[in-house]
Amino acid sequence: MNNNSKTQLSLYDLKKNFQEVHLGLSNQEAIEEANRCLYCYDAPCITACPTGIDIPSFIKKIASGNVKGSAKTIMISNPIGASCARVCPTEELCEGACVLNHSTKPIMIGNLQRYATDWAMKNDQLLFKAGQKNGKTVAIVGGGPAGLSAARELALLGYQVTIFEAEKEAGGLNTYGIVSFRLPQAISFWEVDQVKSLDVEIRTNTRVGKDVSVKELMENYNAVVLAIGMSSVPKLGIEGEDLDGVYDAIEFVKTTKSNNISDHLVGKRAVVIGAGNTAIDGATCSVRLGAENVKILYRRTEEEMTAYDFEYEFAKQDGVEFRWLMAPKKIIGDENGKVKAMECIKMELAEPNEDGRRRPVPVKGSEFTLQVDAVIKAIGQSRYIQLIDQFGLEHDGGVVKINQETFQTSNEKIFACGDVIFGKGQGEAMVVSAAQQGKDTAYAIHKQLFKKTTETA
Ligand code: SF4
Repeated sequence: MNNNSKTQLSLYDLKKNFQEVHLGLSNQEAIEEANRCLYCYDAPCITACPTGIDIPSFIKKIASGNVKGSAKTIMISNPIGASCARVCPTEELCEGACVLNHSTKPIMIGNLQRYATDWAMKNDQLLFKAGQKNGKTVAIVGGGPAGLSAARELALLGYQVTIFEAEKEAGGLNTYGIVSFRLPQAISFWEVDQVKSLDVEIRTNTRVGKDVSVKELMENYNAVVLAIGMSSVPKLGIEGEDLDGVYDAIEFVKTTKSNNISDHLVGKRAVVIGAGNTAIDGATCSVRLGAENVKILYRRTEEEMTAYDFEYEFAKQDGVEFRWLMAPKKIIGDENGKVKAMECIKMELAEPNEDGRRRPVPVKGSEFTLQVDAVIKAIGQSRYIQLIDQFGLEHDGGVVKINQETFQTSNEKIFACGDVIFGKGQGEAMVVSAAQQGKDTAYAIHKQLFKKTTETA
């Protein structure tokens, strides 16, 4: 791309690039699709949904014109059901299980879910009322999908809930970590508002361990939920990592979510390191920020990549190139400290590790240089180990250990859910799983606290 084409892309154009890619269903389309549903008895789509949404019931309500009732059916099972309608890998979950896969095509469950929740959002509906207060208090550390879900369920059960959120806004990944063209912030904010409307206090810009002490939480609440998610992208551990033009994919996406769109990638060559969903987000954001060429570099193969299939397809449609079995060795800067190239090395796969995945090893003498202007690191996320240690909890490299049934950590007053318990063969990475864990944590707390009340009565 030459300088002329750079001037042809205004910030307005770039901002437009970040508008939602898929339009929702029209009324007519939604009703027609809802009428295709067989309303199966023992519906397999319900079993396939990690939050157990009564899918035939919400679809039937759309067909009969009760859209508010439909939204309530969705949101009662999944407190972040509007976001999940957009980001769930539905083809692997509900739609993948739909009986119509065997004859015609599955019901567009995700789109119908979006239709109902969008209607509730556009019509400013508050769907639930807080339960009668039961005199117990719960502090939730982290206002992302798991924390919000736990808060919603606890509020329905009558708990006085306070969420401590380090960021300016609650919503976690849904607010800051998933690209706007797939999940606009307004959706996440609506879900946060639904939770707030249940008399849940959300203290934003409040970092536990800094602005509020762990001791204060432990002394002032009957239970504490740790739903702190994960932290920044870890270091690559190679030379040149601190050069201008090297980004953390999480921060990179977050900047664009805050409407902070800039033209600094127009006409540039960007390389994303990693092949998970965040890598795809980093790559597709780069395309929308005007990058001329975007490559994803992965040290394993297509088979081992962790991004969902639909994310992979989406990136390919955006023109993102994939380079398998390659790893960065060194990032090279120019005289001004800006990225200008990257030395890479080819890899091959050796025997599997203890986690069952084949280990990538460098091919000797296969180094080569790529000309690049921006490097986006998306090689996973580090953990808030310091905070976990402040709570004094047992963990394995930042993955908090829990009792799988009670969600209790090594301190029985502290429960944990979401990404903080994901990893080392424990838990699930999906947003929808975090929502279910939040609900389960709430039930576990209820069981625990009221068991205690009965025992001490
Ligand atoms: Fe409807 Fe498919 Fe679920 Fe049956 S399995 S209830 S057809 S969405």
